[in-house]
Amino acid sequence: MDFISINNLKGIGEKTAGLYNKLGIFSYEDLLYYFPRDYMEYSEPKSVSMSEPGEIVAIKAKVVKRPLMRRAGKLQIVSAMLQTDSDVITAVWFHMPYLTKSLHPGEEYIFRGLLEVKGSSYHFEQPVIFDTEKYEALLNTLQPIYPLTKGITNQAITKSVKTLMSDSRYKYLELKCPDEKRDEVFEAIEEIHFPKNFDSLVKARKYLVYDEFFLFILRLRLLRNDNERLKNNFNIIPTAYTKRLIESLPYELTGAQKKVFAEIEDDLCKDTSMSRLVQGDVGSGKTVIAILAAIQVCMSGYQTALMAPTEILATQHFESIVKMFNEYNIPIKPVLLTGSMSAARKREVYAQIESGEAGIVIGTHALIQSKVIYKNLALVITDEQHRFGVRQRETLTMKNELDNPHVLVMSATPIPRTLAIIMYGDLDISVIDEVPARRLPIKNCVVNTDYRNTAYNFILKEVKAGHQAYIICPLVEESEGLEAEDVVNYTEKLKGAFPADVNIAFLHGKMKQDEKNRVMDAFYRNDVNILVSTTVVEVGVNVPNATVMLVENADRFGLSQLHQLRGRIGRGDMQSYCIFMSGKQNKTVMTRLETLNKSNDGFFIASEDMKLRGPGDLFGLRQSGDMRFKLGDVFNDAEILKEAADDVTKLLKEDPELNKPEHSYLKKELNRQKDSVVVL
Ligand code: ADP
Ligand code: MG
Repeated sequence: MDFISINNLKGIGEKTAGLYNKLGIFSYEDLLYYFPRDYMEYSEPKSVSMSEPGEIVAIKAKVVKRPLMRRAGKLQIVSAMLQTDSDVITAVWFHMPYLTKSLHPGEEYIFRGLLEVKGSSYHFEQPVIFDTEKYEALLNTLQPIYPLTKGITNQAITKSVKTLMSDSRYKYLELKCPDEKRDEVFEAIEEIHFPKNFDSLVKARKYLVYDEFFLFILRLRLLRNDNERLKNNFNIIPTAYTKRLIESLPYELTGAQKKVFAEIEDDLCKDTSMSRLVQGDVGSGKTVIAILAAIQVCMSGYQTALMAPTEILATQHFESIVKMFNEYNIPIKPVLLTGSMSAARKREVYAQIESGEAGIVIGTHALIQSKVIYKNLALVITDEQHRFGVRQRETLTMKNELDNPHVLVMSATPIPRTLAIIMYGDLDISVIDEVPARRLPIKNCVVNTDYRNTAYNFILKEVKAGHQAYIICPLVEESEGLEAEDVVNYTEKLKGAFPADVNIAFLHGKMKQDEKNRVMDAFYRNDVNILVSTTVVEVGVNVPNATVMLVENADRFGLSQLHQLRGRIGRGDMQSYCIFMSGKQNKTVMTRLETLNKSNDGFFIASEDMKLRGPGDLFGLRQSGDMRFKLGDVFNDAEILKEAADDVTKLLKEDPELNKPEHSYLKKELNRQKDSVVVL
């Protein structure tokens, strides 16, 4: 059956369909494979004394008297006093004026929410209210929590999935599996959306993770077959320019950097074409390695393309390369090519690339669009590879069909070597396992929001000393409730807390590209002292003069992501400081953040993160942005990953072209994925 558009589903009008599209849901099948990011467990109501403040709990309590409504500006606040067996809890709700009528004094309900202590009394903000009987029915079930976008509620998605499952066409939908497994897969998918219990959820998840990995690895392997052991078509030789640059840099390369560059220098001269992954933690100095490789290639008369995942990073690479080449008299012309450039400027750059005038072409994925014709492209470098989609990799392979350029991939993702081989099995691996010697380890602390003013004072002190600071707030789009700080509002407030001569600017993903570049540029030049930003600065950004980072709502980020963010500081010789601030002070959050406090080592953090994540946080790292699979997690599911990899090897031995009829579903699925951008 062909794919059925989501617009056909009962209850979904044009507007809702648009919102679903924003979530990447275009068809019935997409909705079916739109898995919850977490689950809410309806546990036995607890007594207050058994609960820890900072925990989400369900508590049975009586409403003491009629709830009151008051207004504070635009806010409508309903407050009520709740009486349990032993304690009194105050509760407030926002924008729910009807509660004054629907909550009956003297009656018992179940209230579920985050229990906090305020002063000497217990406090609930916005708890969900249940009839005791209704709650009884939900008891010990797991309810799905879906990733959302503004305008769509969790309930709406839950309802849509239920509607889909009762649609007459449901059983005929295309699944990513062979025919004989359809029943099992349907069962697993239903379990993922609406688990019967925790054990069956874990089983279903494993089942689907295997399928997800299997398809992913198969896709990578099929790409690789095309570019395996290809001949080196270029005549590249080592050049004195790299040696001279290394000697004139203001710092000495670390032993690891020297070793890795020696490997690359060698690769470029071999009979076969280079495919190499350089892994190194944030701040280990990968960029200069990329530049050295590019110089070697360009001085032999060929071109290099350097791709970065964001325009901000591409622009920064371009500027630092221009500066470096001027300073050290390196006769290579770098050009920048990004999506936001004017059409006229793009045409100019295209011409310089085609004529060979441009030696190094730096940009985003605009670089690999078919409009770009190179004179003689011999090296393709991807920075922060884990941010690129399979699509880009595919396009690279297409380029390979032309001339087979050397490929160099840079990544900070700290994945175990065995996993790296599965994920990037087609690549040789170099590791930069050493940070520059003079660098001081970042000093960290984990604090609650009471510390905010102290933190501001500290930042002010650093700014007065000529340094700069980042303040990280959660994504504008992701801000879900009153808790999340919004970048723009935050900046306004922040300006009030600092003297007028401190320049504060903000940066977030929704801004126009040239606006982003302008702000980043100002920060780079130290015209901006404090940059309030979402995670858009997460990868690659390099402003060594920044010495403080304050992360608001640190509990909302994954540990590996926090480590990447923190990598933006501590890049120069000065002492740097990272402050993780969290309103939530419960034990789990604190233990997680303490890991960051203890260590600046990405590999250690990733492995600790895995250990700390109990079953309740089954889907933790998946949210963090590295390696984004729908369900799978390359750390936690390493076993499954390996099993899937072995099975792919077996399959390709038996049926390398996937011509057997029982494999037609794979061919179909791979073709379908070709049309959609998959983000790793
Ligand atoms: P990453 O590996 O995260 O991409 P970068 O290549 O951006 O790191 O390097 C981070 C900072 O360290 C840059 O300011 C760079 O100039 C500097 N750097 C690189 N190598 C060394 C070194 N051997 N000694 C001192 N500083 C270095
Ligand atoms: Mg980098």
